[in-house]
Amino acid sequence: MKKIIVDDDMCIGCGYCFSSCDLFDQNDDGKAEAKDNNLENMDEAMKEEILDVKDGCPVGAIKIEEN
Ligand code: SF4
Repeated sequence: MKKIIVDDDMCIGCGYCFSSCDLFDQNDDGKAEAKDNNLENMDEAMKEEILDVKDGCPVGAIKIEEN
């Protein structure tokens, strides 16, 4: 399974991901979290959007991990 991970220690809460992509939300600490972290659940358009947002994160906190 490919998982979408937001590294809590790296995220600076800039808001880019959760203001531009519905998959992401802001948690109580002001940081980003993925509402669903199974990339394989997403349709192709959403996968593309997530990969764009991942590339746009200013600190590289969004990662795709395979397990
Ligand atoms: S774009 Fe990156 S730094 Fe900004 S809120 Fe999202 S995960 Fe955090």
